[in-house]
Amino acid sequence: MKIICIGMNYVEHVRELNNVLPKKPVFFLKPETSLLLRNRPFYYPGFSNEIHYEIELVIKINRNGKFIQEKFAPLYYNEIGLGIDFTARDIQRQCKEKGLPWEIAKGFDSSAPLSKFISFEELKNRDNIKFHLDLNSKTVQCGNSKDMVFTFDKIISYVSQFMMLKMGDLIFTGTPAGVGPVKIGDRLEGFIESKKMFDFCVK
Ligand code: ZN
Repeated sequence: MKIICIGMNYVEHVRELNNVLPKKPVFFLKPETSLLLRNRPFYYPGFSNEIHYEIELVIKINRNGKFIQEKFAPLYYNEIGLGIDFTARDIQRQCKEKGLPWEIAKGFDSSAPLSKFISFEELKNRDNIKFHLDLNSKTVQCGNSKDMVFTFDKIISYVSQFMMLKMGDLIFTGTPAGVGPVKIGDRLEGFIESKKMFDFCVK
């Protein structure tokens, strides 16, 4: 099982990090060991002083496929969840400056807290899904799948040209604006529409 994460998929977030809007989806991987499930606490790692939250819609691949055409992509997923792409921003910055890979900034243990999944049938329109993140009961990030630069279908089509997608693979689809640091003692609650998807603390 692999976890594919899309970078720079919301215009306002690309601006806040002073990046240039990509012409093709940008993606990277996290290992399976980065998953943090069932609202378990996130233990702040000792190697970073700047862990940022990034709330993201997550789709789950439900059949194997490669070279998937965009028009057939909806056949490859039918559930959605909510996750956080925790990022050691200080380390990521160092990696970027040196042109090095980002794995240590993005793929560390517990860097991918993930909710349970709900069926798309519970939602009205897969291209209009509102979600938000509350930090200590204050909303810090709001997003809507309609604002994604690359849709779920485009992402699946693009990624599957390079990597076969397998049942159970997860795709974190990018974060909207408003990323910021967490600290020990913080509480993070994530919502899709008004449904609470996760609720955990930083220890
Ligand atoms: Zn992200």
